[in-house]
Amino acid sequence: MFLIHGIRRIKLRGELLPGTCDHCGTEGSVQLLVVQPYVHLFWIPFFPLPKRARTECLACKHEVKHSRLGPMHIGLFDALKGEKRTPLWTWIGAGVIAFVLPWFITQLNRNSADQNALLLHPQVGDIWTIKLSDKRHTLHRVEEVRADSIFVRACDRVAVGGFMAQVKLSTDSTVRFDGDRTAHARADLADYDRGPLRSIERPSAKAR
Ligand SMILES: [Zn+2]
Repeated sequence: MFLIHGIRRIKLRGELLPGTCDHCGTEGSVQLLVVQPYVHLFWIPFFPLPKRARTECLACKHEVKHSRLGPMHIGLFDALKGEKRTPLWTWIGAGVIAFVLPWFITQLNRNSADQNALLLHPQVGDIWTIKLSDKRHTLHRVEEVRADSIFVRACDRVAVGGFMAQVKLSTDSTVRFDGDRTAHARADLADYDRGPLRSIERPSAKAR
């Protein structure tokens, strides 16, 4: 993937310096800037870097970078840089990574745990989405639950297409479960989430 990233800078404050510009000779036109650099990813601020100094002439726009400034300018910068805090928004990207990502992973795990519980404790009426081949899915409904095995019956439809086709099939109230009946040993159920079983719905739990 093509990644756009880099460093951007904002001016936190400026202070006019006495004297003339070395470049154009204008009197009182040079200001010392406190600059806040931050790392961006696709122009979204990610995290800030240490503040830097720079001088800029308001008349001729001549700039001098931090590394080329003398001790007098750096001394003034050190006195000024504490006056303005690093803006919180420069942390947006890091904040998203720190807070949103763990939440997202928790949701995924929770969903996976729910599905496992539905699989290991089947109830009559549970609807299983079964993958037949790459783009073809069908539904099976749990018809009978016994101590050692469960029985499911296939429906009369096959959804062809991607995820939306599956959703459409699973929400179609005209689907009839009058296909083949299949038996599954309870002992095998734990392995089903690695097989053709895509998801389980429990309609009664939904209605509550
Ligand atoms: Zn100048």
